[in-house]
Amino acid sequence: GSTIGVLGGGQLGRMLALAGRAMGYRFATLDPTPDSPLGQIADEQIVAPYHDAEAARKLAERSDVITYEFENVDAGVAAMLMSESYVPQGSELLYTTQHRLREKRAIEAAGVQVAPYREIRSVEDLQDGVAAFGTPCVLKTATGGYDGKGQWVIRSVDEIAEAYETLARAKTELVLEQFIRFEKELSVIAARSPRGEVQAFPVSENIHVDNILHLSIVPARISVEVKEQAERVAARIAESLGAIGLLAVEMFLTADGELFVNELAPRPHNSGHYTMDACRTSQFEQHVRAVCNLPLGPVELLTPVVMANILGEHVAPLLEWMEDEAGLPEEIAAKVHLYGKHEAKAKRKMGHVNLLTDDVEKAIRWVEQSPVWKA
Ligand code: ATP
Ligand code: MG
Ligand code: MG
Repeated sequence: GSTIGVLGGGQLGRMLALAGRAMGYRFATLDPTPDSPLGQIADEQIVAPYHDAEAARKLAERSDVITYEFENVDAGVAAMLMSESYVPQGSELLYTTQHRLREKRAIEAAGVQVAPYREIRSVEDLQDGVAAFGTPCVLKTATGGYDGKGQWVIRSVDEIAEAYETLARAKTELVLEQFIRFEKELSVIAARSPRGEVQAFPVSENIHVDNILHLSIVPARISVEVKEQAERVAARIAESLGAIGLLAVEMFLTADGELFVNELAPRPHNSGHYTMDACRTSQFEQHVRAVCNLPLGPVELLTPVVMANILGEHVAPLLEWMEDEAGLPEEIAAKVHLYGKHEAKAKRKMGHVNLLTDDVEKAIRWVEQSPVWKA
């Protein structure tokens, strides 16, 4: 069968391969870590830094199609690969979504609103920006941030100098955003195929703890109008960007029903892991379909679901709980996914559990009292 080459060997790549394997594809991966979550199960692993052009060329030689599982792949390497192999997602989408300012401009160009923002090039810019937006407001590095790293919530003008100095060390542009007093955080994962077909997965309601996703709740507890609007927004951005494959769209919903897009990710997304057990097609299968130029699959939700992340500190209690599934209501089925990471460091994403339920409130209550997530 054909071989899919994946830049990056993390859990997103691993779950992509688990889905693609079932469809008969072989997988090769390039990742700096030997025995990465994808490396463990791939047909071939190339161990080298992401920006190593020679290693990337080697991946291209072994692959019929190339995709990526994280967005900080060197866009230059991606562009080079386009002349060596088939890279249906191109390098433009990476280039845009790697940089918060370019990303925000692209979202606005699609006719969708983002939180008011300013480019910050000096501490004077930051003083002006904080004066304009008021406090709190959020200073972010334009590139490289994740799980809330590379950002600073400025709560008082006294923090301006320190916030600027700290984030400026990252040697990237900075962006200041107005603080959105959101009622909920939502995300929609859209998929677009090379033939221009677009599908949006059901809206997920996301709850973060310490800037790391804790729960995804689907169906989201929002009105039908907001649901439809959120799905339209994601599809419109995917179309406007000419995205191929998955595009995750994170949004804020305010009390008066307004949506602001926070950020994009051109890849499978943690808030889409619920689709693995709860949708007719998973996000991973959908991405394989899109990059292999197959028809997209149906995305309907089969059951209400709550996805709960397993971080390093949750692994030991989870393994113990799995022996008898103590206290799990009969109406809830718990589907455990673990990524094969060796070191269960605190806050590190190690796995997730999809709780298939008749009632999301029941599953949320169960998580909140469960010994697994108490740690
Ligand atoms: P991810 O791990 O999702 O890639 P990230 O580090 O790229 O995260 P963001 O998603 O931009 O960071 O922000 C992290 C969280 O901080 C958001 O999910 C939200 O809870 C909060 N946040 C970010 N920007 C704002 C804002 N402008 N107003 C209010 N809250 C915000
Ligand atoms: Mg991000
Ligand atoms: Mg985010």
